[in-house]
Amino acid sequence: MAVKKILTEPNKLLRQVSSPVEKVSDEERKLMDDMLDTMYAAPGIGLAAIQVGVPKRIIVMDISKDENKKEPMYFVNPIIKNKNSEKATYEEGCLSVPNQFAEIERPNKCEVEYLDYNGKKQSLKADGLLATCIQHEMDHLEGILFIDYLSKLKKSMILKKLSKNKSSRIVV
Ligand code: ZN
Repeated sequence: MAVKKILTEPNKLLRQVSSPVEKVSDEERKLMDDMLDTMYAAPGIGLAAIQVGVPKRIIVMDISKDENKKEPMYFVNPIIKNKNSEKATYEEGCLSVPNQFAEIERPNKCEVEYLDYNGKKQSLKADGLLATCIQHEMDHLEGILFIDYLSKLKKSMILKKLSKNKSSRIVV
C-alpha cells in the first residue's frame, strides 16, 4: 500500500475521460488499496483513479464519520441507472481543487451499478451525502470538476487562487 501524489487543477490529465476496466485483477486491487491510503492520508471521503494519474473508471470512497471504524467502498465501471428529479445542495470540495469550496446542486438520490473490489456486479441505491459523493466522483471519470458547475466568474476566481498557491513563494 502506498500514498500517491494527488493531481491538482490545472492539469490536463484531470480533464481526460477514463476508460472502463476490462477485468478487476490484482493490478486494479493494488491501485484501489493505494487510492484508499492516499484518500485517508489527504484526508478526503472520495477519490477517483484519474486523481492519482490513472485513467481507469475506478472510485474509492469512505463516508463513515467514525475514524476508528473505516467503511471503504470500491466502485469499478460505475454507471448511474436512475437519478431523482429532486435536488440536494452540499458544499463541495475536491482533493484536486485544494482549499476551495462551493455549493453544488445535484439529484438527491441515484442508483448505481458497478463492480466491487472482487469484480462482482453490485448495485446500490444512494441518497444524501453518499449520492452526492458518488456523483462528484463519477464526474471525475468524465473529466469534470465541481468548479465546472459554477459561473464563469466564480470559476475563474478559484482558478486564479489555485495558480497563486502553485507559484513557489519564498519568504526569507
Ligand atoms: Zn473531486
